[in-house]
Amino acid sequence: MNLERVALVSFHACPLAALGEGKAGGMNLHVRQLARSLGNLGVEVDIFTREHPEPHGIAQEISEKARVIHLPAGDLDKPLEELYDSLPEFQSRVLAYQGVNRLEYQAVHSHYWLSGWAGQRLASTWRVPHIITFHTLALVKMNSRAGETEPVQRQETERELMQAVTRIVAYSPHERNAMARLYGADPKKVVLIPCGVDLDTFRPLDRENARKEIGLDDAKSLLFVGRIEPLKGLELLIRATSELGGGAKVRLLVVGGVLDGDPELDRMRRLAGELGIEGSVDFVGRVDHEELPLYYNAADVCVVPSFYESFGLAALESMACGTPVVATRVGGLSTIVEHGRSGYLKPWRCPDAFAGSLEVILSSRRLQQSMGRSARRRAEGMSWDAVAAQVAEVYESNFPTGPR
Ligand code: UDP
Repeated sequence: MNLERVALVSFHACPLAALGEGKAGGMNLHVRQLARSLGNLGVEVDIFTREHPEPHGIAQEISEKARVIHLPAGDLDKPLEELYDSLPEFQSRVLAYQGVNRLEYQAVHSHYWLSGWAGQRLASTWRVPHIITFHTLALVKMNSRAGETEPVQRQETERELMQAVTRIVAYSPHERNAMARLYGADPKKVVLIPCGVDLDTFRPLDRENARKEIGLDDAKSLLFVGRIEPLKGLELLIRATSELGGGAKVRLLVVGGVLDGDPELDRMRRLAGELGIEGSVDFVGRVDHEELPLYYNAADVCVVPSFYESFGLAALESMACGTPVVATRVGGLSTIVEHGRSGYLKPWRCPDAFAGSLEVILSSRRLQQSMGRSARRRAEGMSWDAVAAQVAEVYESNFPTGPR
């Protein structure tokens, strides 16, 4: 392979952040795992991110070949909504760091529109290809749920980047179509590469042990894993749980979020109370990523009721653990879950429809087990190393041909 060193730009999403709290989730993990797996291919990877309040050194290794470089850009605790103004400072810090350390990158890969703004300028200064993964898109989010708002600046920057970048990595045909339809992107520029899963960490374990470890009694259990925000659709799952019939005791474990002082989590608690199921819903809060396999293994079904997911890592992690998934048929989820084999995809975001599918799986241990086996088989083809090999191919096939 001719690929020696690449720069990943992840301006606001530090790959070392604790996942499942605030804004930190799939994107942070994606950058971390992609960098590690590119490193396994022998590529040196520098991830540029902005300095943030958690203490980290300037350059911190995350594997033998990959490191995170924290650079100051704006006040440490500036909220995401106000970070746009700090991009020029970030860009010049990256240039200074690269210059002082005489680093030569062969490609820039940006994650999210803010990083794309800086990445586009860095790639053009260094005269190397610029690849972008948007992770989410303003117009897709806004079309998915009434009440979602995004700054006009974001839409404009996304539109400009779709024209300017060398290649766009999208997770699913749905995302590629949305880029073409809503932003006028050239579909030929878009490469489809899904996310991956760490198959050693997320694997089937002894179910009874897992249940004991997390203190579950003999009740059937549903699992939700994700940041607590309206787009994730937790409200629907709480309503669906309240509609489950059959008299069986069912617990809903909600993993993610901050237990104290989060208005959205408080709203979910109140909803469970109003529906009379507060005793059956456990708000667990954020769980360390490495501990999550216990939860996926202990659960009977993992539910992903999002209004939209560009990918949906929680679904894939559950499948890798051999636990079926019931999810909304949106975005990347429809490319991960095989309807009727590894779980069910619901075209209607309606509690009845979810409750119906959950009852089917909860009522048959055999169905649950066979779906779990199919789910694991499906996940086995989706490792991060496989993802990195495809991404590296995109970098290499877009190297400039002329002299630099
Ligand atoms: N996650 C975690 N601990 C938590 C909650 C979530 O490690 O308490 C991780 C989860 O395992 C997954 C990621 O956060 O890898 C969420 O990714 P997903 O694609 O499901 O949602 P996103 O955050 O990208 O919207």
